[in-house]
Amino acid sequence: MINEIEQEQELAQHSKYLMKKFNIGEVVERGQYVILSKCKHVDIFRKPIDCVIKESLHSEDEPKCCTKFCFNLINEYQVSSQLSHPNIVQPQCANFKYDGGCSVLFPQAECDAFSYLLNGVLDISVVKLYFKSMILTLNYLHNQQLFAHNDFKLENVLVFKTENENEMFQLTDFGYSYYLGNKHNNCRNYSKYWTTRNTIFLSPTNCQSIQFKQFRNLREKEGDMFGLGCTLFMILFRKYPFGSNLPTLNEKLKVCEDIQKFGYQYFLQFQTAFNIYENDWVILIDLIIQLLVIDDSCRATSLQLMNHPWVCQQNN
Ligand SMILES: [Zn+2]
Repeated sequence: MINEIEQEQELAQHSKYLMKKFNIGEVVERGQYVILSKCKHVDIFRKPIDCVIKESLHSEDEPKCCTKFCFNLINEYQVSSQLSHPNIVQPQCANFKYDGGCSVLFPQAECDAFSYLLNGVLDISVVKLYFKSMILTLNYLHNQQLFAHNDFKLENVLVFKTENENEMFQLTDFGYSYYLGNKHNNCRNYSKYWTTRNTIFLSPTNCQSIQFKQFRNLREKEGDMFGLGCTLFMILFRKYPFGSNLPTLNEKLKVCEDIQKFGYQYFLQFQTAFNIYENDWVILIDLIIQLLVIDDSCRATSLQLMNHPWVCQQNN
């Protein structure tokens, strides 16, 4: 019991500044340096909205001093406030470099796509909506704007409900994103912090570049497309595509090679809970085959997939 109380006291708390300024509710996620909590906010039209506040904490010894988590958060705010797309989460407001931390306010979602799409019984039309929304979003980022997301995964896609109770998927967490127009400088600034990352969603090229610290060789947009392919695999089969949530580069390469070698046949070993006609299933599997490709220049781009039959079809 004493231990529990002690542990409770050690958990990070929001800064006093933030507690005073906002009506903060339940904690959604609490790390050592970053806390996310629900809160109420009034927007510029004086409309009350449910929000989530993300605060990156400064150390008690240096309350005005930003950490690398602050820089990620400030970067996330700067990137996402430059973007305007119905499937991208727009930050509501931000407060930086105050006594105790930095924070950004985002609209509150129902949940993330990881918990929404990997649980319960779903209709394939919801998967299609997710995929279409993300293709439109990545196409906007990659082709109209010079950005890549660089951390594409189901946890970073949020699910909102419209007034008609339909799902709406929005991409969030642009902490690893940066303007690609001046790639040489920006790569030096940001991607060197990526060395601690080892997620299933990183493309083989980006895994290798990070492993050997060759940050100028990153293929960011192509990397987003690889991540998208991984998410589609996970949704359809409710499994990790490369065996575990921390696959080695070799495990990843082996699976991608097998997918390209066996094509549709490769996927016959897995079960899916979705009810779907075989013809549609073949078209859907083709998307994964086009995305989980080792060679970046052979992987489908967001622009190419805008014309894919599964994305274009109006009905299922
Ligand atoms: Zn800060």
